[in-house]
Amino acid sequence: MNLIERIDRWSHETPERVAHVSGKRSLTYAELTRQSNALAASLSKQAPDDHSPIAIQGHKEPEMLIAFLGAVKSGHPYIPLDSSLPSQRVETILETAKASMFLTPDKVNELVSQSKEGESNFQIHHPALDDAWYIIFTSGSTGEPKGVIITCGCLESFVNWILSEQQFIEDKEVFLNQAPFSFDLSVMDLYSSLVSGGTLFSLTKDVIAEPKKLFKVLSRSEVSVWVSTPSFAQFCLTEPTFNEHMIPPVNKFWFCGETLAPEVAGSLLTRFPKAEVWNTYGPTETTVATTSIRVDQDVIKRYSPLPVGRPKPDCEIHILDNGAEAQAGERGEIVIAGPNVSAGYIHRPDLTERAFYRINNMRAYRTGDLGHYQDGYLFFDGRIDFQIKLHGYRIEIGDIENNLHALPNVRDAVVIPVMKNNKADHLAAFVILKERISKSDYEITRALKLELSGRLPDYMIPRKFIFVERFPMTNNGKADRRKLSASLKS
Ligand code: AMP
Repeated sequence: MNLIERIDRWSHETPERVAHVSGKRSLTYAELTRQSNALAASLSKQAPDDHSPIAIQGHKEPEMLIAFLGAVKSGHPYIPLDSSLPSQRVETILETAKASMFLTPDKVNELVSQSKEGESNFQIHHPALDDAWYIIFTSGSTGEPKGVIITCGCLESFVNWILSEQQFIEDKEVFLNQAPFSFDLSVMDLYSSLVSGGTLFSLTKDVIAEPKKLFKVLSRSEVSVWVSTPSFAQFCLTEPTFNEHMIPPVNKFWFCGETLAPEVAGSLLTRFPKAEVWNTYGPTETTVATTSIRVDQDVIKRYSPLPVGRPKPDCEIHILDNGAEAQAGERGEIVIAGPNVSAGYIHRPDLTERAFYRINNMRAYRTGDLGHYQDGYLFFDGRIDFQIKLHGYRIEIGDIENNLHALPNVRDAVVIPVMKNNKADHLAAFVILKERISKSDYEITRALKLELSGRLPDYMIPRKFIFVERFPMTNNGKADRRKLSASLKS
């Protein structure tokens, strides 16, 4: 069965099973298949027959799922755009991608009701492995958004791996959807759910913004598989009643997108003793995640920072130091090769050529991430472009953060270089403490600096420590470094 058939089979086997819940609205598998087929029939008449992408802007409405599948079934990849995106950004994306249509939830409903599917001889398109399935735009370092083309083959490679590794119970699981659909973390919950006949439980941004509402919604959610950024779980842990009594069915916490601090993993294992915690790693360009590890107490005891795991079986991960394969334990750039590697950036052959090439007859992607292997596990050591020069010293910001995470009283930490005249002048660390051992920030700072001095050279120890309850989050749910940096200036 191909991916479309694997999703549509639930409309025959469990037609009344809820495929998606968002606020007060829900959608069954029967309706998802019926409406996505109807939309595909309409699109096949209105969109040009050229496999051009269709942009879909909304938030967590059920129409988003209908539109994703409807676009693919009509022979077009989709571009998910969250409603929070500024209109200028949307314009640039539509131009870059040469999108042939722009849909909103209202437009989706209009096209579905116009469709005379039964009367036409419309045939559902089943994408070939090389056909694009979706295109997710990420921010380029120059500020220009880049559209990552994920093919049907990439998505299949990802879905087959997680289904065999995670052993979800078919037509029983409820997957938490925290990330907006424009962020590839959402692919993890969306397609795990659709292919296993699960229910996708979306949290809208209004709910996420109001803690009281959020915990009420979570307590009624029946979520069994938690998918979020670590920052979001960290935020939830600030609520003392966030534990197995609040969401009894949770059996798995599944993370990707940023560093999982050992303390966050440990607190979740304590508060949800029946649940597993998993760390996974990968950029959008290699389809959501390419490594994984189950983080239990033993892993937490042995490793700080935590490893990001072992590569999925059909891909290779190389650590390259100046083009040569690094030895175990040596640091270098993480390069990922395999069937999950994107076909490149849409209509940007220049950027594609710079980041993608071939290794061992497989497509390969230079991640721009630093990493090393130890005990067969991959460790993430920060971004290459998070490398700064401070008074002549080369410093990896990720290295300092990892060492802060390893301190017993640190729950989470983000380090920001403070710039003066376009040069890094000193470092500031934003820290979430496990407990305030002293009333004075000065004393806590002194204690942390002393502990860090046992682990890092002096020039890597942040000058300033700022203690916060939580970090501001980006729309994607990652710690918002820009806001933290701006707060230093105000
Ligand atoms: P995105 O393309 O938005 O998913 O961001 C991908 C980047 O997030 C990766 O290249 C890493 O820099 C970072 N990342 C993803 N997963 C992890 C992880 N488990 N630990 C640390 N960083 C991660």
